Amino acid sequence: MRLTLSVIKADIGGFVGHSSVHKDVLAKVREVAEEGKDKGIIRDLSVLVCGDDIALVMTHTKGVDSSEVHELAWNAFKEGTEVAKKLKMYGAGQDLLAEAFSGNVKGMGPGIAEMEFVERKSEPVIVFFADKTSPSAWNLPLYEMFADPMNTAGLVIDPSMHEGFIFDVMDAYTGMGIQLKTPEELYDLLVFIGATSRYVVRAVYRKSDGEIAAAASTQKLSFMAGRYVGKDDPVLIVRAQSGFPAVGEILEPFARPWLVEGWMRGSHTGPLMPVAFKNAKPTRFDGPPRVIAAGYQIADGYLIGPSDLFDDPAFDHAREECNKMSDILRRQGIFEPHRLPPEEMEYTTLPKVLEKLKDRFKLVETERPKFSSEGEIAE
Ligand SMILES: [Mg+2]
Repeated sequence: MRLTLSVIKADIGGFVGHSSVHKDVLAKVREVAEEGKDKGIIRDLSVLVCGDDIALVMTHTKGVDSSEVHELAWNAFKEGTEVAKKLKMYGAGQDLLAEAFSGNVKGMGPGIAEMEFVERKSEPVIVFFADKTSPSAWNLPLYEMFADPMNTAGLVIDPSMHEGFIFDVMDAYTGMGIQLKTPEELYDLLVFIGATSRYVVRAVYRKSDGEIAAAASTQKLSFMAGRYVGKDDPVLIVRAQSGFPAVGEILEPFARPWLVEGWMRGSHTGPLMPVAFKNAKPTRFDGPPRVIAAGYQIADGYLIGPSDLFDDPAFDHAREECNKMSDILRRQGIFEPHRLPPEEMEYTTLPKVLEKLKDRFKLVETERPKFSSEGEIAE
């Protein structure tokens, strides 16, 4: 039996500000999605929250891009939005860009990660879910999980992984894709995925048999709406064990924090802090960016879990490190590199400020401007 695992997420209103989700909004989303389970649209459901985002983790047999499953998620978020609007949640319905559902939630606002596979004898999967960042945040950990033997011992030791993996990479500006094989094209791969402002890993496949190993949400909200409508906080599905990296190899990159884009107003760089579910509530300067890891064993299409995988003192050091990194970056205030460079700010509210000042620019003269005693520029 081919099983599909679909994770569809959206921010339909924050409580308070951008920090988390109100219980009544969550309850409505869950209720509508559960009805879909009762009707047989999906087999099983698990609901996750990270910051102001809600993710529906769903299993079914309808394949990827199933309009029935997408519509269920759309309706759940739509009805949740009604509750969010009533409670005047912050940015209620902000990720629902269309008025009505039209066959597929792609391009309509919510983020989607999906994969189809035949359930193995034992099928451990991890769903990563991050807030205050973007899909390219997964580039670095995916590289380490699937292509770096210093992180993933299985690439060396396990004959079923020894041939390596294929990375499916997308150019977020053009929508064009390229597939690169590791280890032989590793340096070519890094040319692209190291440029996180532009290139995003969409999926990873095992080279020996083409089996799907990982799938990420790659929707760029800012590009879709043509204006800034919120951060495209991403989800990532990774299959573990028996021909894939071990659970610990998949989690290990998060023990060494790195910097991602998306903190405060989607306009700042910050460390991605791995946290337990209960701590996925970013409040310091609306951050720092958070990531949770929900582990499941899939049994006959049912989601056994989630297990809260970052709820482990072994990640305390990473969290302390993130706090130190945050202090260093916050010292920069509005200055780059804490603030993102101008190209990255194009879809924020900053262009409105620039518009107001654009006529004040004059060709730079060799002589300095002269000021009157009132501080006005003298003609
Ligand atoms: Mg968010």
